Formats: sequence, C-alpha cells, structure tokens
Amino acid sequence: MNRSNDALHRFIIEQSHVRGEIVRLDSTLRALEGANDYPQPVRRLLAETAAATALLAATIKFDGYLTLQVKGDGPVNLLVVEATGEGNLRGVARHDDVVPDAGIRRLMGAGHLVMTIDPGRGGERYQGIVSLDETSLVRTLQNYFSRSEQLPTRLWLAVGDSSAAGFLLQNLPADRPRDTLEEDDDWNRCVLLADTLTDTELLHLPVEKLLYRLFHQESVRLLGASPVNFACRCSRERVERTLKALGQNEVKQILEQDGEVEVRCEFCNTAYGLDAVDIGLLFSGDHQPVFNQTRH
Ligand SMILES: [Zn+2]
Repeated sequence: MNRSNDALHRFIIEQSHVRGEIVRLDSTLRALEGANDYPQPVRRLLAETAAATALLAATIKFDGYLTLQVKGDGPVNLLVVEATGEGNLRGVARHDDVVPDAGIRRLMGAGHLVMTIDPGRGGERYQGIVSLDETSLVRTLQNYFSRSEQLPTRLWLAVGDSSAAGFLLQNLPADRPRDTLEEDDDWNRCVLLADTLTDTELLHLPVEKLLYRLFHQESVRLLGASPVNFACRCSRERVERTLKALGQNEVKQILEQDGEVEVRCEFCNTAYGLDAVDIGLLFSGDHQPVFNQTRH
C-alpha cells in the first residue's frame, strides 16, 4: 500500500561506537498535515518536528511511544508530534490566523520543548524539558542532549516542498574500556563529515549513496529499513474514557445544548459522536471503572 520512500534506515560505522539513522517522510507528512491548511512556516516547523520525532523514537519498543511537544506564547503556540515504536506518526499544530515567515523563536515566542518517552513493555515513562533556542529546533534538541545525561547525539533536519528528512548520529557507550580520546576522535570525525550534508542530499540522495558520500573512508554497514506511516491512536474507547473523566454533569450539559456529544480528534480529524443513549450507557454504572483500585 505504502509505495512511497517513507522509511527509517539504521546504520553503524564499523570499528567505532557511532550509530546512525536516516528518515525520509513523504506521504506520511501529507497525511499528518491532513486537511489542515497550515501556513508555510507552520508546515515547515511541523515537518521538522515530525522528522526529529521519527528519528528519536526509532529505538523504542513496538508498544512504546515518544512525543515531542513544543509550547510557546508566539503565533504558533503548540506543536505536537508523537511516534510509536512501530513507526506510526501523528501530529498537530495550533496557530493564529496570521503567522510571520520567521524562525522558531518568532513563531513560537518564549517557550519550551518537552520530550516524553514511554519505552513500552511496562517501562517507566520519562519526561525531559528544555527552553526553546533562538535559532532552530535542531539547536533546541542539541541543547537538550548536551544538558541531559543522554548519549552524545546530533541531528540534521531538512524540509522540502512536500517532504522532510532527518539524519541522526549517536555515540554509544563502549562495552569494554577503550581509549576515550580515540573514541572522541571517531565521534568528532563523523559529526564533521555529517555537517557537510546539504539539504538536497538529505532529502533526495539514495541512502546508500548518501552514506558513501559522507563516510567512504569509514566502513558503514546499513542495518536495514523499517516503514514509517501516518496512523492515529485515537479510538472510541479513548474518547469515552476522556468523557468519563470530564464528569457526568459537564457531558450532560453538552448533550442538552447540542443534542449529541461530538468529539473530534485533533490529530486525524475523525469525529466520534455520542447520542443520549450512548451517554446514558457511559454513566450508567454498568461500565466498570478502568482502574482497579485494589491493585497494588
Ligand atoms: Zn485520531
């Protein structure tokens, strides 16, 4: 079905501890934008965020997910992209009617980026936060990695007319002691080489050629590719849970006002409608609470 280039490619630089990823988003990006007629600067920022999220989520288990959320007080006040370990992406941006053609700081104002990682398989959820950098999303993420106890990580992002691409390098910890200087040399050399990557190359050059162009003096091994798609995690069950959390009074008030309760998913625009009978059932008490309170 998905005959596009949308995929995440993994590679390692042999005889070093450097690993890497390349992601290309094409139809995924168009599906993620959906019917939203985002202004060009917003599209660009959302596309960059999507590429970054796909790269960062690549090491998460299939049932986990990673979310990048950027909040600010500017004309674009919210950007959210979420990627599951299976490579499913969804995202949304909220913005004013008029948006200047500017960089992240003018678009989003003063704000911060929050990275949430649910590693899957019952692992503990983790959240990290960093202030928005003046210049770019990449710099913001760079700041995040250099300030937190994360593995040394560098990202490169490029956005085309209707596509986006990302490149990631990460310096893995050694499994046996090795000369630290030698390791830093490997890492620094790879980063310098990747810094020569142009946007056009990142967006369009076939992955093998791109890696050869950068690392022909090293030995690179491609570990394979996995598909990336647009898919939403919303469901009727989730909507019902949200409404239950909202409380019976609130929901019945909406019902009286509108004749039915319609909840529209911000990510995929699917509308979930509940009429008086549905709402009655929802709060009738024969639905057991979602959380079992006796569990330890
Ligand atoms: Zn949805």
